[in-house]
Amino acid sequence: MAEEKAENFFGQDAVVTRGSLTPTEVVLCPLCDQPPVEFAVDYQGFHLCQCSNCGLQFQNPRLTFDELADKIYTEDYCPGHEESSSTTAFSRQIKTFEELIGRKGSVLDVGCGNGSFLQFAKEHGWETFGADIRLSPETSRLTCPLWEGRLPEIDFGGATFDVIRFNHVLEHLQNPLIELARCRELLNQGGLVFVGVPNLAGISPRIKNLQSKLGLKKKQWRHYAAMHHLYFFTPETLRAMVERAGFVLRYWETPVDKEYKEPGGGIYRRMVERTRTGSILDFYITPR
Ligand SMILES: [Zn+2]
Repeated sequence: MAEEKAENFFGQDAVVTRGSLTPTEVVLCPLCDQPPVEFAVDYQGFHLCQCSNCGLQFQNPRLTFDELADKIYTEDYCPGHEESSSTTAFSRQIKTFEELIGRKGSVLDVGCGNGSFLQFAKEHGWETFGADIRLSPETSRLTCPLWEGRLPEIDFGGATFDVIRFNHVLEHLQNPLIELARCRELLNQGGLVFVGVPNLAGISPRIKNLQSKLGLKKKQWRHYAAMHHLYFFTPETLRAMVERAGFVLRYWETPVDKEYKEPGGGIYRRMVERTRTGSILDFYITPR
């Protein structure tokens, strides 16, 4: 690693128009093979597009993987999730894994970050494995097998897993279909894939969409996090993506982990969960 600290582009205005980041990779809709229609440019200069056939939203053009790896996914990359405060999410996910496969088992965490999920899963009786495009220094405390690289390129030496977990990973991938297809080869019989992504159809993102469209936000479309998010999913488009990759949706939810302290907050949280309009979209899928 270079000694010099890389510039952090999070939250900075107009990084594209200023030339600090250069989206050059032109893409078609991965589901329909057709060019998308642009609907907005965010405050950093990234172009937000939608496929007029299937409705999938994605960036076009976008940063190449090499530019993302060099400038964004640096050693101090910390997107703010997978902290120790996520234990509510961890225990909910593990409980659902156990309900769906009927026992504890082995889990490969793709995009394992600082390893806090792996640590938690191990403490709860799971056999753990991790992979990331760049292993964070914090993962050195882990004793489980870890691999560095992109999932389709990693040689797992014949290892297979009961659960493969993509927690806030799929929206970062250049080609989610290839990664999901690779999972089919890495899953044990009866195995499960977990995919958690931001839910663009949630109440809060819908309000922010409207505010951005009306120019009411200082940093328009910031909630898309387009700098490092290449795809933006709703329940419908994520379902189309996983089905195209050969999976069946077994269970999904939009959990709300935030504890609302205000009066009525608990009712609001339960209402959002019941109507599945939360800001996080969790899918549990199995091979068809
Ligand atoms: Zn499409």
